[in-house]
Amino acid sequence: ENKASLIDGKAIAQCIRSEIADEVRLLSQKYGKVPGLAVVIVGNRKDSQSYVNMKRKACAEVGINSLDIDLPEQVSEPELIAKVHELNANPEVHGILVQLPLPKHINEERVLTEISIEKDVDGFHPLNIGKLAMKGREPLFHPCTPKGCLELLSRSGISIKGKKAVVVGRSNIVGLPVSLLLLKADATVSIVHSHTTDPKSIIREADIVIAAAGQAMMIKGDWIKPGAAVIDVGTNAVDDPSKKAGYRLVGDVDFHEVSKVAGWITPVPGGVGPMTVAMLLRNTLDGAKHVIEQ
Ligand code: NDP
Repeated sequence: ENKASLIDGKAIAQCIRSEIADEVRLLSQKYGKVPGLAVVIVGNRKDSQSYVNMKRKACAEVGINSLDIDLPEQVSEPELIAKVHELNANPEVHGILVQLPLPKHINEERVLTEISIEKDVDGFHPLNIGKLAMKGREPLFHPCTPKGCLELLSRSGISIKGKKAVVVGRSNIVGLPVSLLLLKADATVSIVHSHTTDPKSIIREADIVIAAAGQAMMIKGDWIKPGAAVIDVGTNAVDDPSKKAGYRLVGDVDFHEVSKVAGWITPVPGGVGPMTVAMLLRNTLDGAKHVIEQ
């Protein structure tokens, strides 16, 4: 019945985290320096706080120093930007992460553009995204969730070169950059979005599907080419009275149906989610190495 191989993001992320911990140890033995990540959160949105806590805890586990910056909801844009400038100048900080979304009175794009590209471990600076889009250019950092998707493919032995890939979604943080990464890896890439007519017929052509639309279980079994690799980025809460929290998380892919058709599939949760955090640690370590080893 259940044909697809499960891509265990949790286990793969754990393996990456232990590789990172080893490298952090070597770096500190050799140079007496530890990578540092500044994690900035504005306000007290519950979801943002839980993401930030997860990231801070993950840093501690691999020996990365996390600098916690908690700013009140009312902080002004100039104050936040002044904080970013201070972190840009702090030699102990190798990566700066500003948790999104920011409160409405702050212009996110303006803030993200102020982060030094050398410390842009989220990879959201327009210069880093621009370089990602250009042939022959390489940004210093790839955005974490997209990088996690490609890492899941490569660590599962799935080649990208020459394959047909379809990305569902075109957001700045997932859909667009993952499309650019697949293109750099020599896939033929199509992007499906909310104005696409007949997404099913396009998705059905794909050897690799990356689902990042934020639409619970939108992709059904008969939308998938038999044997395709399906990476489900979607994380959607749906009501479930049988759960203590009253809800459960599901992906953009109907796992039950698609796992009977696909060759590979990621679960939600336990697929892309843990990889995003692992890639943040990877980027922070790489940023630190870039500075410390030169
Ligand atoms: P956005 O809402 O910013 O973007 C959604 C994209 O999907 C848009 O480009 C939109 O098109 C497109 N879309 C929406 N509905 C449809 C549809 N019915 N058919 C085709 N395309 C559609 O979301 P994000 O990119 O931020 O996140 C996407 C999902 O990934 C969410 O579920 C989010 O929770 C999850 N996520 C998971 C992460 C992880 O670590 N696992 C990290 C980040 C996000 P248009 O541009 O036309 O509006």
